[in-house]
Amino acid sequence: MQIMDSDILIIGSGIAGLRATLEASKLGKRALLISKGPLGKANNTYLAGGLFAFGADSKGVLAHIDKTLKSGRGLNNLALVEEFSKRAPSMLKELQDMGMRGTIHNTGLVTRESSLIGGPRIAPPLLRACRESGVQCLEGIMVTDLVTHDGSCYGAVGFHRRTGTLFGFRSRAVLLATGGAGSIYAQNNNAPGTTGDGYFLGLEAGLELMDMEFVQFYPLVREKGGQTRMILPAVLADLGKITNRLGEDIKKKYDLKEKPIALASRDRFAQALFKEISEGNGVDGAILLDLREVEDAAIPFSHEVREILKRTFSYHLKPIRIAPACHHTMGGLPIDVLGRTAIEGLFAAGEVVGGIHGANRMGGNALTESLVFGALAARTATEYADSAPTLRHFQPLAEELAYKRVAPLYDERAKPSMARSLMGRLGRILWEKAGIIRDEGSLKESINEIDGILRALEGQRATRPSDLYRVLECRNAAISGRAIALSALKRTESRGSHFRKDFPEETEDGLKHIYVRMKRGAPEVSRVVPI
Ligand SMILES: Cc1cc2nc3c(=O)[nH]c(=O)nc-3n(C[C@H](O)[C@H](O)[C@H](O)COP(=O)(O)OP(=O)(O)OC[C@H]3O[C@@H](n4cnc5c(N)ncnc54)[C@H](O)[C@@H]3O)c2cc1C
Repeated sequence: MQIMDSDILIIGSGIAGLRATLEASKLGKRALLISKGPLGKANNTYLAGGLFAFGADSKGVLAHIDKTLKSGRGLNNLALVEEFSKRAPSMLKELQDMGMRGTIHNTGLVTRESSLIGGPRIAPPLLRACRESGVQCLEGIMVTDLVTHDGSCYGAVGFHRRTGTLFGFRSRAVLLATGGAGSIYAQNNNAPGTTGDGYFLGLEAGLELMDMEFVQFYPLVREKGGQTRMILPAVLADLGKITNRLGEDIKKKYDLKEKPIALASRDRFAQALFKEISEGNGVDGAILLDLREVEDAAIPFSHEVREILKRTFSYHLKPIRIAPACHHTMGGLPIDVLGRTAIEGLFAAGEVVGGIHGANRMGGNALTESLVFGALAARTATEYADSAPTLRHFQPLAEELAYKRVAPLYDERAKPSMARSLMGRLGRILWEKAGIIRDEGSLKESINEIDGILRALEGQRATRPSDLYRVLECRNAAISGRAIALSALKRTESRGSHFRKDFPEETEDGLKHIYVRMKRGAPEVSRVVPI
């Protein structure tokens, strides 16, 4: 096992991890940034539309807090919302000064200009600054466990996805920025590795996850060959005709009036599309958005963007096939305003964290809070690292984790694992039974079937490091899926993004948080805490 030392280990190179790394290095700490995907790429930050929502002045900040809380339906952690909202303007200004291009609007900043995604503009200035300050970065490393002892975290273990080399990352403080779990659903628009690894790492280390039932589904995603990937600009849903196989007008049928319907009526619109498609009213699994009769001038984009839209979607020639897709996971690891988790020496930021967005995330808030809490958590981790010891017997502990828990999954002579097909099955179960529309029966079925997948995974052996990577991602996805389904079963009401067909109304009793914790190798509901 190769041992690497640092003051602060940052796991994940999306916006949260990059901003955290920069902060730690600015404060003079030896930061080590590791990431299973390529640095700054192949993650949700890279795919983002590029909207950072925030209020620029004190009135704007208050309005922003108000809108965020409305969206969260009473479940946001107010202290976290206030903290990121107040700090956002200066942190966005700093990011622009570092070279991130974007346009300021009255409710935020948009990095997207003449393309459909704005994410690619976010990481480069942060990564450049990290490199200039001499930060050590490693990509292609999958972290498999956190190294904890007596309630404190001292590092992590992982392996290189191509070579299989095992690593022990000994560190005074560890910051998890591993993103969410959106790609575990069969239909999603997330980066492929968004498999809830951080949820698994936190649970295994003894932490709880909160609010896991709240998964956001985006209605307006282009469907292509049974896959949903690319988000369409929200305004297109308001301009075009949206019809099913029978020619019925979906906006009328479901009384979708509030514009832009893809944002203001996001949940009801996603539910309507899901219902139509699952009842067989779709056109080969999609609903049609027809823009052929819309005048070019009515499409509120520059000529350049309209041409890109035409090239990408051919909307002037044929209807665009649309379907809803999993977009964001609002639940996750609880933190305080300083980015601390309940384990000493372990900090977290970004989509892996729960509690900020409550029952539903307001558009544009994910990038903003990930940026702010990335920096804040790193600042706290830096102070902690000043006085934290390194663990004397780190190496034996790390080796035990790697050789007892990961190495046994590896057998060069075994049959190739079924991880890929198990992952496909898991995605379908979650999509059909624990997705946009849920009820007691479907959720119970999903939990049973997920347990079947977890049992099947126990017998899987990887023949190559890349296969081991897949087996572990599938396990992390199944554990995250179980946490989602269990929490959704426990919440017997509908609220925000969580819709129960058998309990369609929001109730007063629903003002509570549901927590899960690992018990005998699988998450179970541990606490229900009224607000
Ligand atoms: C299509 C799309 C559009 C979006 N548009 C917007 C928008 O316009 N505005 C907005 O606010 N939000 C938007 N979001 C949400 C937002 O992009 C994400 O919530 C945010 O980027 C999350 O950042 P992050 O740093 O937490 O995680 P990510 O950017 O997902 O990065 C996670 C990192 O962790 C690494 N990692 C994961 N597991 C491991 C492991 N086991 N070992 C090592 N490394 C690991 C990954 O390789 C990756 O580098 C959008 C999301 C999607 C999918």
